[in-house]
Amino acid sequence: RPARMDAASMTRSTCPYCGVGCGVLIGRDASGTVVVKGDPEHPANFGRLCSKGTALAETISLDDRLLAPRIDGREAEWDEALDLVAERFSEVIADHGPDAVAFYVSGQLLTEDYYVANKLMKGFIGSANIDTNSRLCMASSVAGHRRAFGTDTVPGLYEDLEEADLVVLTGSNLAWCHPVLYQRLVAAKTARPEMKFVVIDPRRTATCDIADLHLPIASGGDAALFNALLAEIETRGAVDRAYLNHVNGFDEALAAARASDPALSGLSDEQIAAFCDLWIGTEKVVTVYSQGINQSSSGSDKVNAILNCHLATGRIGKPGMGPFSVTGQPNAMGGREVGGLANMLACHMDIENPAHRAAVQGFWQAPTIADKPGLKAVDMFRAVAEGKIKAIWIIHTNPVVSMPDADAVRAALEGCDFVVVSDVTDRTDTAKLAHVLLPATAWAEKEGTVTNSDRTISRQRRVLPAPGQARHDWRTLADVACRMGWDAEFSWTLTSEVFAEYAALSGVAGAQGVDFDISDHAAITPSEYAGLAPFTWPLGPAKKGGRFFADGQFHTPDGKARMLPIVPRAPQSAPSADYPYRLNTGRTRDQWHTMTRTSKSARLNQHLGEPYLEIHPLDADALGLGPADLVEVTSPEGRAVLRVLLSDAVRPGEVFAPMHWTAETASAARIDALVKAVTDPVSGQPESKASVVALKRFAAS
Ligand code: SF4
Repeated sequence: RPARMDAASMTRSTCPYCGVGCGVLIGRDASGTVVVKGDPEHPANFGRLCSKGTALAETISLDDRLLAPRIDGREAEWDEALDLVAERFSEVIADHGPDAVAFYVSGQLLTEDYYVANKLMKGFIGSANIDTNSRLCMASSVAGHRRAFGTDTVPGLYEDLEEADLVVLTGSNLAWCHPVLYQRLVAAKTARPEMKFVVIDPRRTATCDIADLHLPIASGGDAALFNALLAEIETRGAVDRAYLNHVNGFDEALAAARASDPALSGLSDEQIAAFCDLWIGTEKVVTVYSQGINQSSSGSDKVNAILNCHLATGRIGKPGMGPFSVTGQPNAMGGREVGGLANMLACHMDIENPAHRAAVQGFWQAPTIADKPGLKAVDMFRAVAEGKIKAIWIIHTNPVVSMPDADAVRAALEGCDFVVVSDVTDRTDTAKLAHVLLPATAWAEKEGTVTNSDRTISRQRRVLPAPGQARHDWRTLADVACRMGWDAEFSWTLTSEVFAEYAALSGVAGAQGVDFDISDHAAITPSEYAGLAPFTWPLGPAKKGGRFFADGQFHTPDGKARMLPIVPRAPQSAPSADYPYRLNTGRTRDQWHTMTRTSKSARLNQHLGEPYLEIHPLDADALGLGPADLVEVTSPEGRAVLRVLLSDAVRPGEVFAPMHWTAETASAARIDALVKAVTDPVSGQPESKASVVALKRFAAS
C-alpha cells in the first residue's frame, strides 16, 4: 500500500530545537510510523532540515515519560498536586512577600505557556522573579538592542544573509548550531560564488568550511576587533554622515574605539586589516552573532561594539545589510516577546516605564504589577541558596546541569523549602530534586506558537494525544492561578484564547509606541488559529518590508539610536599557574541541550557518543595525553572526567568541551559544574566560554 505522504495529508508544525524555527510536516507512513519531513512552504527552511530535525520522529517514544503528578516521589492526583502548589506558593507569599517565590522557565516553552507564566508572576503574584534559560543564551543581545535601539528589536530577516555580499559570523558555529541557516548560506554561495564569508572564532569550527577568512580571535577579543573596525571606518571615510543624524554618541564611541588596543583581539595587524578591507569595502554586509558574543562577562558591550559599526555606516535594516543575532532556542524570541525575562514586561514593554506598567496592569485588570526587575537566573539561584527564595517552579529546563556553577545550583535546590518541576520526564537531574513533579505535554502533543530568530511566528500543532495525565503548561499554570484566587483572569479553555489575549495586549504595546504589535490577530477564532500560517512581524501599515531602522526611527526618548563607547574587557578569570588552560564550552552538531530528547535517537548518538575534551596536540604532548585517554578537568568550581580528542582546531592553551552530558548520561561530565557563575553586569548572562581549568591524566582509583 503506498504511503500517504503528500503534504496535504500531513500536519504542519515547527521543529522544537533551535532558533532557526524550521517548519516540519508530520504524518504517518503505511505502517503507521510517525514520519517528519521539512515543510517546503515554511519561510525559514523551504523544506530543508538538519540532522536533528530529520531524527525528530525517533525521539517521541514514551519510554521515559512522566505520566502522572508526583508529590515527594509518590503518584498523586492532579487536584492534590495543584492544590499543594497553590497553597505553598500562597503561604510563602503571605509570610515573606511576593519576591520569596520564583519561576525559572525555558525557551522550550510555547509563547502561550510563557504568556500565562509571565501574567501570573508579574501581574498577580506581583514579583518579576520569572527568568528563563534564555538568559544563558541571548540576554546580552537583548541588552545590546535595548541600549542601542531603545527596544529589543532584531532589525533584519534571514533573506538578508542570502542577499549580503559579505556575511561575518562571529561567535557563531552556524554549521552545527543553526544548520539550516548555514545550508541556506551554502546555497547562496553556490548561486553567487562572489559572496564572501568571514568567521571569527577562537576555534576552527565546521562553519570555517565556508570561510574566505577565518580569524582565530582571542577569548574575549571581539570588542577590540570591532572597535578597530569602527576606527578604520572613520579613517577611511566610510561613515554615513546623513544616517548619523539619526544616531547619538558617535564621537564618544569613536574616541573609545581609537583608545582601545587592537592587539587585545589576539589577531595580527594583517588579519585585522584584511577584515577591515572586506567589511568596509562591501556595502551589503550582515554581521551574525550568537553565543560566542553573548556568553561573556562583557557580552552586552561586544554586541554594542558590533551595532556601533552598523550604525556608523547606516548599514542596518536594508536588504542584505545589518547586525543579526541568532537565538539558540526554538522560542527564545517568543519568550522575549511575552516578557519572559525578569527585566521585561509583556509585548516588549519596559518594566521600568510607569506608563507601560500601567498599560499592562490595566489590560490584565491585575491587582498589582511588578514595579522593578526581578532576579536574573544566576542571582535567582543564589537567592534560593541564601533562603531568600523559598519556593521555585522550574518549567522545562534542567538548571542542575545547564547553569554555571551547577553543583552550587544543585545544593541550592536540595536546600529549598519547596521545588516544583514541570517536565516531560522524571529523569533530569533537576526533576530528581522536585517536591512536586508535574507531567507536561511534549513537542508532538503541544499546541501553540513559537517565534524564530527573524521574528517569524509559527504554529506548533498537536499530532499525538497527551499520554497519561500530561497537560499543557499554560493550563497547569492557569489551574494554579485559579486556586490562588484569580479564576476570572485565568479562565481560558482553549490555547487559541490565550493567543488572542496576548495579541490584544500587543495592541496596547503598539499604542505605547512599541513596534511589537500583532493585534491583527486579537479576534482570532479557534479555526483561524488552527490554520494560522507563519507570519513575520511587524504587521500592518508599519510593515517596513519586514525590517527595522533603515528610516532612522528608533524607540529611544529622542527617536535616535545610541552608539556606546566600548572599552574592551578581558574575561573575568585569567589563566594562572594553578589553572593554566582556558575552557570554552558549546554544543555538538547532533545533540540538544541536556539530551533529554536527542539521546533517544541512535543515529544522533553516533555522531559524538560521549563527552570529550578537545585539546591541541602540543598541550596533550606536554601533559602526556594520547588520543582517547581520559583527562581530569578541574576548575575552582568543580570537576569532570572526559575523553581526550586531539585537535588543532583549538588554539594551544585553550580547550573545548560540549555541554550536553548530565549526571544521568555520564556521571562526571557536567561541564557547567566547572563554569564560574560570573555574569555580564548589564545583561546578567553568564560567562560560559572563558573558564580556567587544570588538566591531568585521569587515573581511576
Ligand atoms: Fe530544527 Fe534548527 Fe535543525 Fe531547523 S536548523 S531542523 S530548527 S534544529
